[in-house]
Amino acid sequence: QRFPVVIVGAGPAGLTIGNILRAASVDCLVLEIESREFIEQRPRAGVLEEWAVRGLQQRGLAENLLARGQVHNECEFRFAGQRYRFEYAELTGHHHFVYPQPLLVTDLVREYADVRGGAIRFGVRDVELHDLESDRPSVSYTDPESGQRHIVHCDFVAGCDGARGVSRDALPPGRAHVSRYDYGIGWLALLAEAPPSNDCVVFGMHPRGFAGHMARSPEVTRYYLECPPGDDPENWSHDRVWSELQERLGAAGAPRLTEGRLIEKRVLDMHSYVVEPMAFGRLFLAGDAAHLTAPIAAKGMNLALHDAFLLGDAFVAQLTRGDRTGLYGYSRACLGRVWDYQEFSQWLSEVYHGTSSGDPHRAGTTLARLRRLFGSRSAGLAFAEQYLGKNADY
Ligand code: FAD
Repeated sequence: QRFPVVIVGAGPAGLTIGNILRAASVDCLVLEIESREFIEQRPRAGVLEEWAVRGLQQRGLAENLLARGQVHNECEFRFAGQRYRFEYAELTGHHHFVYPQPLLVTDLVREYADVRGGAIRFGVRDVELHDLESDRPSVSYTDPESGQRHIVHCDFVAGCDGARGVSRDALPPGRAHVSRYDYGIGWLALLAEAPPSNDCVVFGMHPRGFAGHMARSPEVTRYYLECPPGDDPENWSHDRVWSELQERLGAAGAPRLTEGRLIEKRVLDMHSYVVEPMAFGRLFLAGDAAHLTAPIAAKGMNLALHDAFLLGDAFVAQLTRGDRTGLYGYSRACLGRVWDYQEFSQWLSEVYHGTSSGDPHRAGTTLARLRRLFGSRSAGLAFAEQYLGKNADY
């Protein structure tokens, strides 16, 4: 078997690249270890930046998103028992979209496989990458039904297999540098079968720990509770979760949260990494395979899409016009935004977690940062620009 491009992983990054290639009539094969049903239901992100939605729209990939996604214009901070609305759309003219990741993945798979006729194999096992430094790289995998091993020859490999994939491990030691940052904080990530209790995202900075509220749909709300890293989700009973959320998100004039069944409950240890460069020979990494951003600032899926737009377009330029510029500049072009978002996540982490750090000095400086956001228009504008992500025409 031979395909110009093999894409490892059918997440937002891999599927977006596949769609860009198919739109240019470039053949590619997507290899995914999970089933189609699984990836279409895996709950994760939901916040999309405006430039990312425009990028999807320009590639014919945002029809459902624009029809069904919610537009968010503001967020709310709760601290010291008070509520503060931050109206970022009014300040900047830009907004966020909220569209659950499983819906986006469903749209992208359907468009890639059913409309644009892209090849995809689900449930594959033991994916291995070979000869990446030669001009004849290949990818092998085990077919789940026959148990047979297949080898696919290609020109390029897109490593889009997320934080736990195999592509990153194909970079030989010494040829790429992985820098890591551990926040030393855990978040209990929850999905509740309950309607949102506020008309926008809420961030609660409380001495007992950070708490977050994010609408996912009219019936489902995502909540976060700061907890010790490595905590066992079983330590968090239904009653404990709701009483902590009510307390940490409580503020003068705020209605009580609408409670509901918890349909997801897992602990995320907040850590990040960045692989530099994001390319090795014929392998190009994209999305979480290349850089993990702790979900503190809701940046991961946006970065995955940014990489995908650049890499998809660069593959098309190389394979249809022999233009190598995009592939040469790919890693550098991605890493600017990656580091910008890493820095903002660290800044925001201090805002979220300083109050509960147990250190009165940190708690004091955190509150000063928060007050500055609401007391200074230029501080508000600077925050809004980072929170919304730099606008760009992709
Ligand atoms: P993934 O979505 O991880 O896709 C990788 C794919 O590769 C998967 O389908 C996986 O099954 C497959 N795979 C893995 N190993 C192999 C292998 N060996 N061979 C073949 N396939 C393989 N981001 C935001 O922007 N906003 C948010 O609000 C937000 N909230 C989040 C909340 C949570 C709880 C979590 C966990 C993440 C959140 N993120 C958020 C991050 C976001 O979900 C990720 O950054 C995004 O999914 C990255 O996309 P990707 O395509 O790079 O990787």
